[in-house]
This record gives sequence, C-alpha cells and structure tokens, in this order.
Amino acid sequence: MPIAEKDMKLLWGRAAGYCNNPGCRLKLSETNQAGESFLTGEMAHIIARNAGGPRGGAQGGPDVYENIILLCPTCHSKVDKSPEATYPAERLHAWKAQHEEWVDSWSRANKMQSTQELMVFISRLLAENKHYFDDYGPRSSTAVSAPASSAFAIWVARRLDTILPNNRKILEALDVNARLIPTEMAGDVLAFKDHAQGYEMNQYGRLETYRLFPQSFAEGVAKWADND
Ligand SMILES: [Zn+2]
Repeated sequence: MPIAEKDMKLLWGRAAGYCNNPGCRLKLSETNQAGESFLTGEMAHIIARNAGGPRGGAQGGPDVYENIILLCPTCHSKVDKSPEATYPAERLHAWKAQHEEWVDSWSRANKMQSTQELMVFISRLLAENKHYFDDYGPRSSTAVSAPASSAFAIWVARRLDTILPNNRKILEALDVNARLIPTEMAGDVLAFKDHAQGYEMNQYGRLETYRLFPQSFAEGVAKWADND
C-alpha cells in the first residue's frame, strides 16, 4: 500500500520541509538554474515495511504518518545502514517529536497581541541592522577612509548571518500579524517587503539593483513602538 496523500501532507507540513534529524535540519527542496523546484526529502519508515528490514521486527510497519519520518537522503541511509540498535525506533520517534515541536515554536514566538508589541519586536531587529550598517556598511567612516580594511569583510559576514535573518524574521512577523499593521503603514510595509526581498536576491547575485531601505518604514515602526 503506498503512502496516502493525507499522510504525506501531514509529514511534510508538520516538518516544514526539513530533515527531522535535529543535528541536520537540511532543507528538503531545491530550485535548479532553470527555476524548476524539486523535493530531495525521503519518507523513511520508522518500522520497515517488510519484516526483517531496518527495525522491522516480525511483522513490518504500516505506511501511515505515525510510522514515517521525513529525512534527507544522507540521514536516511545512515539510519537504515548503521548497525542495528544505533537508531532504534524510539530514537526516531523522539527526533520527529522534537522536530515538529521546533517547527511549531516558530509561529508561536511570532504571534503578537498588539500593534505595539509587533513594532517593538521589529524595531529591535531594525536597530541591530542599523548598527552594523552604520559601523561597517559601505557608508561607514571606516569603509570610506580605508576601503581595503577589515570593515568590508565584517560587513559581508554580518549581511549574511545577521541582516538577512533579521529581515526574514521581520517579514514573517508582519505576515503572521498582518491584522496588527496600522492602515497608515500599509504602503511602507509593502515598500519594506520589496526592499528585503530585493536585498536578499542581490546578496546571491541574482539582482543588480534593488529598492533602498524605506526610511519611512523605520519611522512608522518607531512611532507605533512608542505608542502607549
Ligand atoms: Zn538529514
């Protein structure tokens, strides 16, 4: 019996498309240069379908969500080809539970109660971005006076490990909490989304120019963050 569509949707949805091994968490979809997307994840049986297969026991296990774990190809081989007892069924169930809990925690953390709470959250991330931009960015005094200095290397690193993730957190918070965005900020929010998406594509060399950071967005955020 093949895995039913319902079970596949549960598996991929609850795992958010990442390998369930907590030490791996590889993203299980890719897009090639022609722009075609494809899946690289494997739906691994916790108790093998056939008796005598990995963790299979005397009867084998069913093709249902409860008995399947989403893994990347490497983790799937590791789990199935390691000596028996290295990855017992209990361990795989624990991986899956821990992984799904991790995925759940993203949106819980970002669900806000008020416009002010949302704007305070965003203003902290914007402040961190501004700090790096001012100190190391292309217009910082170090970069201007000594273009070959280490400021540029720091800037490149911070763009990837801080600024892009912060922008993604802001976009996600805006999406999850769209109902809390004041009407007067709707245009600035769109401008920021435009900027953040273009900025990210530019880092990966897919875009020559992009919309500059909309200062009016930061002003709106500051105004509503202070609103008591
Ligand atoms: Zn993996």
